[in-house]
Amino acid sequence: MAATIIDGKKIAETIQQELAEEIKQLQAEHHLTPGLAVVLVGENPASKVYVRNKNKACHDIGIYSEQHNLPQEASEQELLALIQQLNHDDKIHGILVQLPLPDHIDEHKVINTILPEKDVDGFHPVNIGKLMIGEKGFRPCTPFGVQKMLSYSGVPIDGAHVVVVGRSNIVGKPIANMLLQKQPDANATVTVCHSRTKDLAAITRQADILIAAIGQPEMITAEMVSENAVVIDVGVNRIEDPASKTGYRLVGDVKFDEVSQKCKAISPVPGGVGPMTITMLLYNTVESAKQSLER
Ligand code: NDP
Repeated sequence: MAATIIDGKKIAETIQQELAEEIKQLQAEHHLTPGLAVVLVGENPASKVYVRNKNKACHDIGIYSEQHNLPQEASEQELLALIQQLNHDDKIHGILVQLPLPDHIDEHKVINTILPEKDVDGFHPVNIGKLMIGEKGFRPCTPFGVQKMLSYSGVPIDGAHVVVVGRSNIVGKPIANMLLQKQPDANATVTVCHSRTKDLAAITRQADILIAAIGQPEMITAEMVSENAVVIDVGVNRIEDPASKTGYRLVGDVKFDEVSQKCKAISPVPGGVGPMTITMLLYNTVESAKQSLER
């Protein structure tokens, strides 16, 4: 039987509508408009598209956003000075520096300079530490989006065996930590796999919830999942496709056609985790604005 489709685009739209309402309320009751600053260094075409999409998403729901473009040859000092300025700017509640940065700039130094209370990407070590110990803080947007997708779809996480394939700092490790926490929308038993894992299929077959964050096109096949599994595909991979106008198409880390014929529920690519990621950036920015009222 074909799996239920977990429609990330639809869930993202629902959350964005809720955020738009919250923003109206913040404006009416506190004269407060959440603000996001997006910093782009250089001319990376993919980064430019991401930044444009983030600004548009802000605009669509009523978040004030400003874009700061620095040239490719900008110094680390210049970038750090801009972040300091944004740290002190009261109309800015979230600061996002689009990665990757040019090689001559130290990414860790840059992230560490963003005030943790404006780190809406959730990459600052303070926010990562808070995630680890289950304290309130900003969660990285992609794993946060995965968690929201599961809870909005009514997938039980409490007690479930979650298998995460991938252990990166931006997806695999944080999602594993988030779902392990002793709190609602979590309480899972989590197994994390990676490229050195032995007999991967034997482990993925045990998953009630399988999260693929690998970066290998269509690596998860039907024989690697059980009939009862809920499969979340984080992967975004370009593969050649002469039939398409662009010459390529996007696929996930999961072989959708065959896995969707076997498992219980599955998120597609595109239209799954992608729209959720940007939505959680908006969510964190609104959250940061609300927290600024308490300071
Ligand atoms: P990384 O390359 O940083 O990490 C990939 C992980 O997968 C590593 O831990 C690696 O293991 C593991 N891995 C690679 N090959 C295998 C294999 N054959 N078997 C088991 N494990 C393997 O990628 P990211 O975490 O940054 O991203 C993962 C995917 O998610 C990518 O496709 C990326 O494009 C996508 N993505 C999507 C986002 C969205 O918004 N939808 C946002 C961020 C990422 P090891 O550690 O041993 O090398």
